[in-house]
Amino acid sequence: MIKRQTTINRIFKITGIGLHTGQPVTLEFLPRREFGIAFVFKGVTIPARYDMVADTRLSTLIASEGASVSTVEHLMAAFYFSGITNCLVYIDGPEVPILDGSAWEFYQGMWKAGVYEFPENGVYLKVQRQVEVTLNDAWVRIKPHNTLDITMTIEFRQPVGKQKKRVSDVENAFAIINSRTFTLLEEIEAIKKAGLAKGGSLDNAVVIGMDDIVNPQGLRYRKELVNHKILDLIGDLYTSGYRIMGKVEAHKTGHHLNNLLLKELFSDPSNYSIY
Ligand SMILES: [Zn+2]
Repeated sequence: MIKRQTTINRIFKITGIGLHTGQPVTLEFLPRREFGIAFVFKGVTIPARYDMVADTRLSTLIASEGASVSTVEHLMAAFYFSGITNCLVYIDGPEVPILDGSAWEFYQGMWKAGVYEFPENGVYLKVQRQVEVTLNDAWVRIKPHNTLDITMTIEFRQPVGKQKKRVSDVENAFAIINSRTFTLLEEIEAIKKAGLAKGGSLDNAVVIGMDDIVNPQGLRYRKELVNHKILDLIGDLYTSGYRIMGKVEAHKTGHHLNNLLLKELFSDPSNYSIY
């Protein structure tokens, strides 16, 4: 458990393709003295923070002064798991690379770079009062608790069905980090017709067929799909700028609701305390 502000111990780079653009993109990670994670694209510094989120339809996209970076959630989850609070990420395209569809390669890069600790604290946000947001049959709520504790329920057609998972101490839940993103077979054609997911393949997503998983290797974990929804939620929660301590219950949540939850949380300073 980290207590203080941290950054990476040395510079490193990661290259891959964007899921939606299909274009190669390189990230360069630089140590940062200032608190928080921020992207630098086209000379614009964009804090990776909930109040910079401009689109949540396909992924979490942050924007500022005419520059935007999409699909930040898996990278943000990797920062959370690595315990990194301060970092500058230079990016040469508009979308964070999808890599294997999980946070694994980002996490490995950070782990190899190592962690440098600053004397300042103020990295934890402790929830003081329950906050909840709802949209149709989806909802997510957070209440006071002494760890980040997440219970996630997802519901898709068979063979996925309804899956539920609880992770009571997220900081040490390493099976979440390499759980991959997924899509239903019938959605692929529509997405491609819309000119999206140009970089999508069985190398970076789990594809759910009518009877079984399409990927020849199958799943990495029996609960990989619900694990991945937890990964997305962790990444989105880290756009709070803090390591949240609270008990989260989520039902069919996604990037939009996750962002609304943070806006609701920050709308009243008595909902939380920072230390
Ligand atoms: Zn995801």
